[in-house]
Amino acid sequence: MTTRDKLEALRSRYTDVGAFSIDDPVLKAAAADLASGDGRRTPPYAGIATFLGLPAAPDAAGLDVAVIGVPTDLGVTNRPGARFGPRAVRNVERIGPYHPTQKNVPKARLKCADVGDVPFRSRYSLEQTIEDIESFYVALAEQRVRPLSVGGDHSISYPILKALGRERPVGLVHIDAHCDTMGSFDGSKFHHGGPFRLAVLDGVLDPERTIQIGIRGAANVFWEFSYASGMTVIEIEEFAALGVDAIAERARRVVGDGPVYVSVDVDGFDPAFAPGTGTPEVGGLTSREGLSLLRALTGLNIIGADVVEVAPQYDPTTNTAQLAAQVLFEELALLAASPAR
Ligand code: MN
Ligand code: MN
Repeated sequence: MTTRDKLEALRSRYTDVGAFSIDDPVLKAAAADLASGDGRRTPPYAGIATFLGLPAAPDAAGLDVAVIGVPTDLGVTNRPGARFGPRAVRNVERIGPYHPTQKNVPKARLKCADVGDVPFRSRYSLEQTIEDIESFYVALAEQRVRPLSVGGDHSISYPILKALGRERPVGLVHIDAHCDTMGSFDGSKFHHGGPFRLAVLDGVLDPERTIQIGIRGAANVFWEFSYASGMTVIEIEEFAALGVDAIAERARRVVGDGPVYVSVDVDGFDPAFAPGTGTPEVGGLTSREGLSLLRALTGLNIIGADVVEVAPQYDPTTNTAQLAAQVLFEELALLAASPAR
């Protein structure tokens, strides 16, 4: 039971003081990054919706990290709807800006903004869309701006990797129910089931520095290329048997010190947490496992990241977009902590 003296001390320190009156030096520094100049703070539900409540910027000049929407689902093999992913994720409020395990405010350590969506020439042509994405990301790479993207279906990761891996192939941490290393399908080599095969064959993704985590379901019959090329494939059974810490350690070993891209397909999570996606597979990661895994990548040489396959119309709870926005924030925190800065 608390003593009379202790209660008096608490009263004299904390009665009628504001939320920003904090003694702990780490929390105090983080809180200073949250305070606004004029004391007015926009409520989380007000204003024009942007990714993570970041400022909107007309272009990426001078930024460390650009957050980009890529609203296309021309590459899906099953249920459409991921074209609505960026808007759904922008609508999520109260993600960050304080990161509870890094104990800092990632956006205060970076120049970062929501630069809008990739402009597409055609809403019908997947081939043109892939070209448009590549040229947009090449322009970012030439300005040394690191991309953080919200899909869109997973076909968007191929042109992004082409832009990022132009000078040297990158490594990859990939969370997904599917390896996405399938060959041509229904006459198209571009689709959301094959971006990582194309990236390896183009020499922009190093399969020996690639780990794919959460793999499961009937499509496993199509993932020979992952094994043949030397990717590390963690099927969900192995994930469950070894646990998050061991798999995170494995991921750090596989990708090493070189440049790494992080790609998260929300269908890597169990549909109990993320039903709003086009190709759900039951028996996946929990939200907590996925967040722990991402946080365990802190300090890797991360040069870009994405979260894809949010199809909000299959999820009346909006939890899928909520989870995707949290993943986006974790990825922003990884970029802020990356030695690539
Ligand atoms: Mn995928
Ligand atoms: Mn998938």
